[in-house]
Amino acid sequence: MTKKVLVLAEIRDGNLRNVSIEGLAAARRISVDGEVIVAVFGSNAQNQTVTLQQYGADTIYLVDNPKLDQYTPSAYLQAMSELIQTIKPDAIIMGHTAAGKDLAPRLAARLGIGLVSDVTDLAIENDEIVFTRPIYSGKAFQKKKSTSQIVFATIRPNNIPILEEDQTKVANIVSHSIDITDLRTVIKEVVKKASTGVDLSEAKIIVSGGRGVKSADGFDVLKELADVLGAGVGASRGACDAGFCDYSMQIGQTGKVVTPDLYIACGISGAIQHLAGMSNSKIIVAINKDPEAPIFKVADYGIVGDLFEVVPLLTEEFKKVLDGAAV
Ligand code: FAD
Repeated sequence: MTKKVLVLAEIRDGNLRNVSIEGLAAARRISVDGEVIVAVFGSNAQNQTVTLQQYGADTIYLVDNPKLDQYTPSAYLQAMSELIQTIKPDAIIMGHTAAGKDLAPRLAARLGIGLVSDVTDLAIENDEIVFTRPIYSGKAFQKKKSTSQIVFATIRPNNIPILEEDQTKVANIVSHSIDITDLRTVIKEVVKKASTGVDLSEAKIIVSGGRGVKSADGFDVLKELADVLGAGVGASRGACDAGFCDYSMQIGQTGKVVTPDLYIACGISGAIQHLAGMSNSKIIVAINKDPEAPIFKVADYGIVGDLFEVVPLLTEEFKKVLDGAAV
């Protein structure tokens, strides 16, 4: 039975990433009566304690060290390795984020344990933890067990439902000092590209445009819809290659993999490489003027029409419905 599960909380721009809260829910699922421990790194670590305890942490390890403010592989590897020696967890969970994807294999190699990456579901079956993860770019799912002494997994954002907030829960807070001696790189500055403000990997709704959007200005109609819905704006590689938008918006096999509750694909044909990044979205709406476009094969709802007519109509209707809901 899994007694202790260690979750690494990720903070970006001073905010706790949602995938860390999902990590707490994942940890509770595999350790129903055990201890869910969360590690938070950096100078503002203590700012996250209330949220972490209310969403399921039993114990919070705060490692308040400015060398851990930004993710760097050497510093985080040292900090996690030392914490694991102290805590001796039965399982470790972190987000399948840019940092998680970089750190987890290094940590697994250092500890000599296996890693189950990009997990979308997990459960206890016959006293064993069974992980579900997509394979072949999301066309099939694999169920996997770990045979390592410490079970280690990264979870894909937006897949594990978070626990209900419990405002009465109080966690045990441990301040833990780690002297980072193995700092091989230092981040001097983070220069951000212009973005829609919504992190695509954690967005609940994404409005995405393809070559059918026709120009950079064409994306304005998508942005208006996204603003009304509080959505992120994504793109196909076709749109990025054509110079309509930045590659940071690209979704697909060589872009971001997303799992929002709602994905609205506008003027995207549905090439296999695009589907690899979004076909596991919970609801897919496709708007395309070609009724034979392959995107309709994966769509839950399809609208055959010109996106420049359809999208503004949707924006108007959503405005009415959402304004009505706010009254
Ligand atoms: P198109 O295929 O040109 O489709 C445009 C669509 O818009 C058409 O279906 C058309 O009917 C529709 N349309 C046109 N005008 C309108 C209008 N006014 N209203 C409504 N609909 C309209 N692609 C990705 O997206 N992500 C990736 O990560 C990715 N990785 C790749 C990796 C490799 C190794 C390779 C070889 C390719 C990769 N691609 C990727 C590219 C992929 O194969 C496609 O070329 C690309 O997805 C096509 O983009 P698109 O659907 O926007 O353009």
